[in-house]
Amino acid sequence: MSKVPLAQKCASCGWFGLPSRLWCPGCSGTAWEEVPTEAGHVVALTSIRRAIAPDFDARPIVLVEASSANGSVWLIAVAHGVVRVGDIVECRRQGSAVVAMKR
Ligand SMILES: [Zn+2]
Repeated sequence: MSKVPLAQKCASCGWFGLPSRLWCPGCSGTAWEEVPTEAGHVVALTSIRRAIAPDFDARPIVLVEASSANGSVWLIAVAHGVVRVGDIVECRRQGSAVVAMKR
């Protein structure tokens, strides 16, 4: 199994994005193709200051504009190490989360 985040592309209308959907917001279709995403740049950064899970660690959350064969897609990821707005990052799946680390 690939550790690269996979975006969804609608087989009917071509809508493209993340996170995964049950049906297409463009045409309500349910047939999907998976499109691997690659590196991207950090667009925004935030922190969650209250615990949201028992094993919560307060790493910053970043919004990444990542590239793929279908164009760019937005990813919400957990920062690994020091990441700043404008940094080029690699994104990898880690369990159900996406982790962004500076290149
Ligand atoms: Zn569609």
